[in-house]
Amino acid sequence: MAMTDFEANSFHWLVDMLESVEVGLVVLDLDFRVQAWNGFMENHSGITASKIRDQVLFDVFPDIPKAWLARKVDAVALLNTRAFTSWEQRPYLFRFRNTRPITGTEEYMFQNLTISPLSGVTGEVEKVCLMVYDVTDIASSKRALERANEQLATLSMTDRLTGLLNRGTWENLVDAEFERYRRYGHTTSLVMLDIDHFKPVNDSHGHLAGDEVIKHTASITRNAIRQSDSAGRYGGEEFGIILPETDAEGARIICERIRESIELSVVETSVAPIRYTISIGIAQLTDEPENYMQWMQLADEALYAAKEAGRNRVVVR
Ligand code: GH3
Ligand code: MG
Ligand code: MG
Repeated sequence: MAMTDFEANSFHWLVDMLESVEVGLVVLDLDFRVQAWNGFMENHSGITASKIRDQVLFDVFPDIPKAWLARKVDAVALLNTRAFTSWEQRPYLFRFRNTRPITGTEEYMFQNLTISPLSGVTGEVEKVCLMVYDVTDIASSKRALERANEQLATLSMTDRLTGLLNRGTWENLVDAEFERYRRYGHTTSLVMLDIDHFKPVNDSHGHLAGDEVIKHTASITRNAIRQSDSAGRYGGEEFGIILPETDAEGARIICERIRESIELSVVETSVAPIRYTISIGIAQLTDEPENYMQWMQLADEALYAAKEAGRNRVVVR
């Protein structure tokens, strides 16, 4: 098959283009021996075309998932059709370091991959071409967006000052716990907690010092409870705790610990050292409340009783 000068020239340009295009091009025979390896592949792998030629791809890149790629290539050859995989299914086929300056946070190059069948003169598929696209920019911005969305979701569930659950989220959990009791009858207790004489704290030391005290209450509470318990900021200086699998006596022990640890603390705010106390009400769930709000009401009544009885105490309903 003789080529004209024109054809020979075109062929030369084409090869030049394929050599320098910013896409990885690899031709494999059906035994996975490398038949072509362009400049992109040379630059990112550090392996020259002449060195890798006729070598089995998996021998040179033992990291490549052999069974997976073999299955893809078999399907391409058998069906004589293209196959595509995105970085979201598999972040990369070739483990190349990410060299892009802007997306320097990603360690490896994210890749999309297309596998195309290449037919010989008989029309049979004899080889396949892998096209490797560097999609690190897209992948890293998408991942950054996902991280931001996760943070937003967390922020909208938590209270800014204390990091505890905010009122809406916490109340939803009380509702869910109430329903769980209805269905399974598991023991569970609810706690309401309020700082004693907090108005004077704000009045004499200022709102910011008051905020420090609120954070202190939150941190003592958080440290006193288990992973499966849920603490929320119910109001300004009011907190609620759900204690699943805990009866009133168990709840009293936890709450006494919180109460006492606060009584013994000195909050070193920027204006003055502040000592304070809290009052706590507990309501173990029974069949009496008809909804979660009535359950909360019972805990609140116990809290009110603690205030009435002189504050700095725990009252079980
Ligand atoms: P009691 O012992 O009866 O609870 O007395 P108290 O002064 O603590 O009364 P109450 O619980 O009604 O007081 C709530 C006060 O908390 C009113 C408000 O000035 C203050 N407060 C509410 N939210 C915040 C907040 O986010 N930051 C600060 N610094 N103060 C708050
Ligand atoms: Mg108060
Ligand atoms: Mg209050």
